[in-house]
Amino acid sequence: MALSREQNIAKARELREQGLVLREIGERLGVHQVTVWQWLNPGKTRDKQRKDAAKRGPAKRQWERDNRAGCPQCGSEMGQGSRSPSKRFDRCAACRRTNARSRWGRLISLREQGLTNREIASATGTTAAAVASTLYTAGQHGFEVPPPPYWSRGKSSGQVAA
Ligand SMILES: [Zn+2]
Repeated sequence: MALSREQNIAKARELREQGLVLREIGERLGVHQVTVWQWLNPGKTRDKQRKDAAKRGPAKRQWERDNRAGCPQCGSEMGQGSRSPSKRFDRCAACRRTNARSRWGRLISLREQGLTNREIASATGTTAAAVASTLYTAGQHGFEVPPPPYWSRGKSSGQVAA
């Protein structure tokens, strides 16, 4: 016979006191470890967390309105969370896009000159992997990126690249 919710919670507490971890308790009682955690922390259920967040919401939004930073590149107001250390941006979204595009353009023009990823990397002070990844991203955004020149390198003029 299945235990009632109250019996389960009592059992979970008992097992926790015996030093079992949440996963072990969950296995014994046939529930997920998150459920065990909720049983052991009745004040912190997801619903309660949601309600607390909803209460904090307006204050948080006001704080963000009051603490927006200006973009050092164009001076326009930056978006939400621009002063929050975990979400700090040093440029506004438009400037970050422009900067990315101008960086892509620089790498693409070096590629058009026939440089390999490694040569572009040493010319721009980064790594070949970063160049490859940046050029890939540029390609994903509709920029025409010529393929790396590996095949045409070091071959006699009569040979045709595969
Ligand atoms: Zn800006």
